[in-house]
Amino acid sequence: MFRKLQIALLAPLVFAWMVLLYRTNSSPNQNHQPNPVAIETAAQPAHFTDADFAVHVQQLKKNLPSDDFTIVIQPPFVVIGDEPTGTVKEHSEQTVKWAVDKLRQDFFFQDPKEILDIWLFKSAASYERNTLLTFGEKPATPYGYYSSAHKALVMNISTGGGTLVHEIVHPFIEANFPACPPWLNEGLGSLYEQCGEVDGHIHGFTNWRLPGLQAAIKAHTVPSFERLTGLDTNSFYNDDRGTNYAQARYLCYYLQQRGLLTKFYREFHTHQSKDQTGYQSLRKTLGRVDMNLFKRKWEKYVLGLTQGYEVSVAP
Ligand SMILES: [Zn+2]
Repeated sequence: MFRKLQIALLAPLVFAWMVLLYRTNSSPNQNHQPNPVAIETAAQPAHFTDADFAVHVQQLKKNLPSDDFTIVIQPPFVVIGDEPTGTVKEHSEQTVKWAVDKLRQDFFFQDPKEILDIWLFKSAASYERNTLLTFGEKPATPYGYYSSAHKALVMNISTGGGTLVHEIVHPFIEANFPACPPWLNEGLGSLYEQCGEVDGHIHGFTNWRLPGLQAAIKAHTVPSFERLTGLDTNSFYNDDRGTNYAQARYLCYYLQQRGLLTKFYREFHTHQSKDQTGYQSLRKTLGRVDMNLFKRKWEKYVLGLTQGYEVSVAP
C-alpha cells in the first residue's frame, strides 16, 4: 500500500522531470530523443471543450447540403458523412481516431488550431455535387483534398480511406511544422495513404506510386535528393516531372524501414531554422553518407520493392 502511494506521489515528479528534460533537450545540440508521448502530454494546448464542439455542430447543421448527413464529433475533427450513420461512425473511429492517435504518438503534439471538418461523401456524384454546393468549387482531384481556407478535409470516401489518412497529415503538419517543405509534407502524407499498424505504430506500405517511380529510376530521370528537398511549393506541385510525390514517399518509406523516420523528423524539426530543406538533417540521419552513393543505393532498393510486400533495410 505504502509502495503504491509512493509511486503515485512520485509520478508527478517524474512527469515534471520529463517535461524539463524535453525543454532542455529542445536546444540545437540535442542528442537525446525525448519520448513522443511525454511531448504530447507536456506540450498539448488546451483542447476545444464540448461546448465549443456543440456550437460548431449547431452551425454545421444550418449548412448541411441535405438531410442525409450524420455528424460525429471526433476531436480534433468533426466528421460529416452521407453514408449510413453506422458507416460514418465506423470511419470516425477506425480511420480518423486511429490515424490521429498514431500520428500524435510518433510525430505531432499540437492539434490544429481550429476545429476542422472532415466531409465524407459517399460517391463521386455526391462528392462533386456537394463540394460545389458547400464550398462553391469543383474538386481538382477525384479522391479528396485538404482546404486550409475552408478548414475542411473533403473526401470521396468511396475511393477508400487511404486519401483520408494522407489528408489528415496535412493539418497536423500545418500546426506542428508550419515551415515544413512540400517534399516532407507530401512524403509523409503519401506514405500513410497506404498504411496499417506494426508494433503499435503507424506504418506505410508500398503502393500504387511505386511502378511509376521504378520506371523513372530506370529512365534516370529522378532528381537528386538535394534538388527534391530544395523544391519550393510552386516547383514541387507545378513543375512536377511526375516523380516528386513518389520520390518523397519512398524516401520516407526507406527511412521508416531503417527505423530512422521519426528520428529524422525530430532532427529536422529541431534544426529547421538552420536547415530549411531538411537536406542536412537527412544527411546527418543517414550517417553523413555521400549523397550520390546513397541515391544509387536507394534506387537499387526501390527497384527491388514490390507492391504489397515489405522489404526491410539493413543499416
Ligand atoms: Zn497531400
